[in-house]
Amino acid sequence: MPRPILATIDTEALAHNLRQVVQRLANDARGGPAPFVWAVMKARGYGHGLEAAVRGFAQADGLAMIDLDEAVRCRELGWTGPILLLEGFFQPADLAVLAQYRIATAIHCDEQLRMLAQGEVRAPLDAFVKLNSGMHRLGFQPDEYRAAFARAQALQAQGVLGTVGKMTHFARADDDPAVTRAQLDCFEQATQDLPGPVSVCNSAATLTPGFAAGVRVSEAQWVRPGICLYGASPFASQTAASFGLRPAMTLSAQLISAHTVPAGEAVGYGQTFRAPHAMRVGVVACGYADGYPRHAVSGTPISVAGVRTRLVGRVSMDMLAVDLDPVPQAGVGAEVVLWGQGGPSVDEVAASCGTIGYELLCAVAPRVPRREL
Ligand SMILES: *Cc1c(COP(=O)(O)O)cnc(C)c1O
Repeated sequence: MPRPILATIDTEALAHNLRQVVQRLANDARGGPAPFVWAVMKARGYGHGLEAAVRGFAQADGLAMIDLDEAVRCRELGWTGPILLLEGFFQPADLAVLAQYRIATAIHCDEQLRMLAQGEVRAPLDAFVKLNSGMHRLGFQPDEYRAAFARAQALQAQGVLGTVGKMTHFARADDDPAVTRAQLDCFEQATQDLPGPVSVCNSAATLTPGFAAGVRVSEAQWVRPGICLYGASPFASQTAASFGLRPAMTLSAQLISAHTVPAGEAVGYGQTFRAPHAMRVGVVACGYADGYPRHAVSGTPISVAGVRTRLVGRVSMDMLAVDLDPVPQAGVGAEVVLWGQGGPSVDEVAASCGTIGYELLCAVAPRVPRREL
């Protein structure tokens, strides 16, 4: 038997969250055409697994990711719709694979245009030319954009590229709408009158009324939500539940020990937590080698036998300790929810260790057994 820890992936929650997003976009469009949705599933579906993501997002208009091998795997799993590589390809040898599996690519730099011009492409590739509208990560500068787009159009005329669209990415859609507005203005100015579909809006922009609907488009518009589809929030101050989203991953484990720590004694490495009174402490079969963050502080929420309690002391490699005072009846074998259904949200846990839910979901270790609902 494996040790008592489990990541349960609820594919119906993935499908539900996608429907919530589609519904919001339809409401936001007020009768106009609603954007198409690329379900973003980089990092093996934000740690949920490719199989689960492909099943859960069966109704998505397209899938977007980073890794070419993952894209190919999605095809092998039966996904026949559009696939977009958000960073595009990295070497000339990738181009044959893109063509073979009908995978669309972002084009964000001159080197990629050069590889396309020099490569042998057997079937036209669909592409989105990326603008750097202020995030300064990937993309052509606004004053380079038209020239880059013209080169893409020339490749289109040669049959190397198929559809050529435009895309950009927002730096602060989660916390500063004014910055997003400025990036959108930059995007509209740089891409004005250029043909092709448009792709903007991560989860935060997709969930903010007015952004997706405020993009001027002459052809199809594609939004790119990721984290919200997994039931976590892109915002620090708004919960996923407040958007009607359901957690798709539940990380659970069991107590493997329960005992009383005398008043004044400390728990775990570094003795960072000292029992203020004689208290019952449980030991959970989950540690940082499972992907639970080591920097989670004493007080991080955790649920034991359906009761919310707290982490005490430092997280070890394979174990962590919890305060059993609120659940005196819990003993060895009691069910523990680290995050997800029946426990704290992954966003709450992340907030207790100075990170975001994204990082925790992606970091669940391969050694954790998985079950797909
Ligand atoms: C990750 C990513 C997204 C999705 O972001 P979320 O915040 O998870 O919604 C969209 N577009 C690009 C280019 C990305 O890298």
